[in-house]
Amino acid sequence: MQEPQLNEAKKDYHRPMHTAEHILNQTMVRMFGCERSKNSHIEKKKSKCDYFLKESPTPEQISEIEAAVNAQIERNLPVNIVFAERNEVPTNVDLSKLPEDVSETLRLVTVGDYDICACIGEHVNNTSEIGRFKIISSEYLEGKLRIRFKLEKSPDILQRPDRQDN
Ligand SMILES: [Zn+2]
Repeated sequence: MQEPQLNEAKKDYHRPMHTAEHILNQTMVRMFGCERSKNSHIEKKKSKCDYFLKESPTPEQISEIEAAVNAQIERNLPVNIVFAERNEVPTNVDLSKLPEDVSETLRLVTVGDYDICACIGEHVNNTSEIGRFKIISSEYLEGKLRIRFKLEKSPDILQRPDRQDN
């Protein structure tokens, strides 16, 4: 069976970092009821995501975010892709990051039972490949929280040259 025609995946994503971004987004939605980050910059060494919040999180809450993301990573959750027609997608799935010209068949990415969102990027197969999520810094200014993060104790899967999954 042939896969449906999809918009091309972005090539600048680092898969463990980008998958951590999915988990962080879901964690922020659950903890603060905010939107997923619409302004993120994901790179191998460090990444950042912005969230719009009414007030600044406390240092304790920042620690909680980090702990919550690591708790999911440590569950060794499988990361799966499912395809669905746009009009079949549940309304709680955020489609806002998709490009305007996205194909009618959407690619939904699930991180275990924790997260689902439409995404054309590339991901790890299991959260055990991510490593440990570490918040480097957070700053809150005029309603916007910027979280900078990195991944530590990277498993050796990160050292392998571009692995093909199929
Ligand atoms: Zn993704």
